[in-house]
Parts: sequence; structure tokens; C-alpha cells
Amino acid sequence: MQVHLVNPSHVSFGVGVITPRWLFVIAAATPSEFGDPVITDETLELLDVSTIKPGDVVGIGIHTGNALRGYEIGRAAKQAGASVVFGGIHATLYPEEAHELGAATAVVKGDGDAIWGQVIGDCSRGTAQKIYDGGRIEARTFKPARWDLLPEGRYMWASVQTVRGCPKHCSFCSVWKTDGQRPRQRGASDVIEEIVELRRKGFRFIALADDNFYPVTLEDLRQASRRADKARLEQLTALRHERFELMERLAELPKDLVFFTQITMEASEDPEFLAAMNRAHIKGALVGIESVTADGLKDIYKGFNATGDELVARLRAFRTHGVHVLGSFIFGLPSDNPTTFDATAALAEKADLTFAQFVMLTPFPGTVDFAAWEKTIDPANQIAGVPITRHWLIPQESRPKVYTAHPVMAADEIRERTQAVWDRFYSLQQIWKRSRCVTSLKARLAFVLISKLYRQMYANTGIATDSARVNRSARWARMIAKPCRRLFSARPMPNLQVPQIHTLAAKGSQ
Ligand code: SF4
Repeated sequence: MQVHLVNPSHVSFGVGVITPRWLFVIAAATPSEFGDPVITDETLELLDVSTIKPGDVVGIGIHTGNALRGYEIGRAAKQAGASVVFGGIHATLYPEEAHELGAATAVVKGDGDAIWGQVIGDCSRGTAQKIYDGGRIEARTFKPARWDLLPEGRYMWASVQTVRGCPKHCSFCSVWKTDGQRPRQRGASDVIEEIVELRRKGFRFIALADDNFYPVTLEDLRQASRRADKARLEQLTALRHERFELMERLAELPKDLVFFTQITMEASEDPEFLAAMNRAHIKGALVGIESVTADGLKDIYKGFNATGDELVARLRAFRTHGVHVLGSFIFGLPSDNPTTFDATAALAEKADLTFAQFVMLTPFPGTVDFAAWEKTIDPANQIAGVPITRHWLIPQESRPKVYTAHPVMAADEIRERTQAVWDRFYSLQQIWKRSRCVTSLKARLAFVLISKLYRQMYANTGIATDSARVNRSARWARMIAKPCRRLFSARPMPNLQVPQIHTLAAKGSQ
């Protein structure tokens, strides 16, 4: 019996940007008696179904965006005689769908790290349950990934998780509902050991694949202090200390390492934290800016973000501390109007963002927005026989890009204007201007190449039905991806050791 793990994707680029961490974590959770799993990441190349034999177990991890492809694989694997197990955020939210459409033998809800061993054991004995609930396990039981199974030379960035969960409750995001609002932080030593293993293999660039790297804000501490809530204050302070401890340990790693993470804008008001990020070689962060207007932020329960000059100042604070920002914006919010697009593009330029992404408001399952939107949709509203409220099941070639009706703009207008902002931000002239963030000509040219790749991989590629354009875009990305990967790799350091713990001073106490 062979265990297979598959990360589904409709489009493969030959080279991956970031390692899909879950594959290597679930590989680590596979008991040794079942041997090493065969891992297929379809963002590299498609699964060869002929490798699946009767009696095998095929684990498929899905999020909403790749669920449809996941179900195709599930059916093919079942046909080949395998037991099919689904996991991931989408399977957690819609376990029945995986049974109906993906020929699931079993579905794992929640964290798979601890329960996976039991699931494949049951599959091998023919006693699999329909649904397993993995729950939310404590950070000390998170499995470190099996990086020894990583194919060589295929990924630009590796990924290591330091914390699961986010205390916020943004209306378009499912993280706080699925991973929970209580931050579950891994011990610094567990994180460092994984990073050292990755640097030994030649990875210099590592994404700290966290829901929110800054789970305790200065305002949280002030509030607990004001309320004289001693227990809460102690708990928050301990979490904050752990962050600083981790960053101190990261700072002791080889100087050529570059980390990237995901963080809320509130970190910009915390110079001590930003300085620690800088020392820790955390050189980039995705910041959810979402909207440049107060009404837009109110639309999505993100009132803790700033607008106007204060927003520019906060974003620049990251840059002042050597942290490059990938700003993330959403278009199509109820309060948006045609002027929002230019205002957003202008702010992105003024705020010294290094990269930016502009996504269209999409009601994703598990979010507050989705629950509200679903109620407003007539079940007869269908595309290719699929209700629009199950938009991820609409075949790729006829799947629209915008689903939420907007009070003043048509879907096409939102899409076209969004596309124009991508084009403006990633024009050669703008990229060249931004490339001043690096010094040598070679580095500036590399910056241009990477910016173009990012745009090609992540920008909307026009109307969904225009599959020729999607294919052209993927071809382009494939062409640039290989030379880009070489820019990210470094000479392996096979003898690198985990640095000794010198100082763990309790920094950051407030
Ligand atoms: S969008 Fe970011 S800050 Fe908001 S809930 Fe999701 S992870 Fe947290």
C-alpha cells in the first residue's frame, strides 16, 4: 500500500514559488510503517494517475480555489481502486461535497497533523470513517515538515509556520473561523531547526507562512492593562515575549537568509517590533491594506487600518525599518466607486510599496461576507448548471471573476478597472522606479524580472472565459519562472548547525 499526497492545481508552471507546506507536514504525520508518501504538487506538474494502484491511499488537500480539480483527482483515484481522503480548509467547511463530488472515502476536518496516522491506518484496514475531526491542536504538537522529501531545484521559497490563528475578524477572511482567533505559537527551537534544515539544502528565501505574525498589538496590551485584567495581560505579554525570542533566534542564523511574512498594519506603530524584524532578516511582509477609504474598511470590519496620510506614514514605517511591503488591496467593496481605483493606485505609489496585489471582492466560504451574500442569491442563478453560490464548482472556462453585485458598478467595470490598476503598478516604468530599492544593475534587472513574474502569476488574466488568455499568461509565467528560481537559490550549507542559545532576554515587555 502506497500513500500519495496531492496538491491539486489546474495550471502548472514547472517551478513553484512557495513550497506547499501542508504536503510535507502530512508526510511527516504519515507513520513510518506506511513508508514515505509519494508527493505530487500540481503547480509543478500534473498527477500521473497511472501511479495509483488498488489499495493505495490518496490524500488531497483543498482550498476553495482548487477544490474542483481536487474532486477530479479524487474520482480518478477512486476509479484506480484507492482510498481517497480529503483535507484542508474547503473540505473542513464542505465535507459532504467532497463525498458527493470527489468520491471521498473519508474527509478530515481541521488540523490533520495529529489525526492523519489514524486515518490511513483505518483506510488500510477498510474501516475508514466518513468524517474525522482533527480539531485545533496545540502548537507543541504541530508536526515539523519532512523537507527531506522536497524535490530539488523546483521551488523559489520554502515555507515554515510559526503561528496558527488570528485574533482579528475581517469579514472577507476565513482564517479566524477555521484556524481560530487564539494564536497558537510554535516554540522558537522547532522553527529554527526547520529553517536550518532548509538553509542546509540551499534555501535562502523562506516564507513564514503564518496567518498573522503580529498576533499581540500594543493596543491589546494597553486595553488589558486599562481593564486591570491581570491574567489576560500576562498571557499577551508571554505571547509577545515568544515573538521576540523567535526573532532573536532568527537573527543568529546566516546573514544571507531572507524571511517574508504576513502581518497586520498595527505592527507599524511598534518600532521595537519592527527593529526586531529587521535584525531577524524579515525583509518583506504582506500587509492587508484592503481599502484606502474609511468606508471601505468599515465594509470589511477592518477599522484598525488607517487611511490617507496616516496610511502612507504607517506603510513607510515598515520600509524605514528595512521591511518591504507587499500591499494587498480589494476592489468591489460596496462603498467603492470609479474614483477608488485611481486613488488606490496613487496611494500604492506614494507609500513606497515594493509589490502590490489587487484582488476583486470574492465571497469565500467560511467568511462573514459569504454567509450574508449567500442569503441574497436566487438559487435559480446558475452558470453551467451550478448555482452561483457554489461558484468554485463552475468549470474553470466559464467561471466569472466577480460574483457580488455592486451598488454603482457593473461586474465588467470592476474587472476592467482592477486590471488597469495592475497594469499601472506593474508598468515597466513603475517597476524600474521601484527597483531603486536594490543597488546594483544586476539586482535591479532581477527585480524587474521578479515583478513581471509576480504580475503574470497573480494578476487576473481577464475574463474567465478567455481561456486562450489564461494559457498565454501561464506560458509566459513558465518562461520567466525558471530563470527567476535561480535568482533565489544559494549554495547549500550542509554543515550548518542550529546556533546555541546565547541570550533569551525578555525583550519587548510593555
Ligand atoms: S485578513 Fe488577516 S488580519 Fe484579517 S482575519 Fe484574516 S488573517 Fe486576520
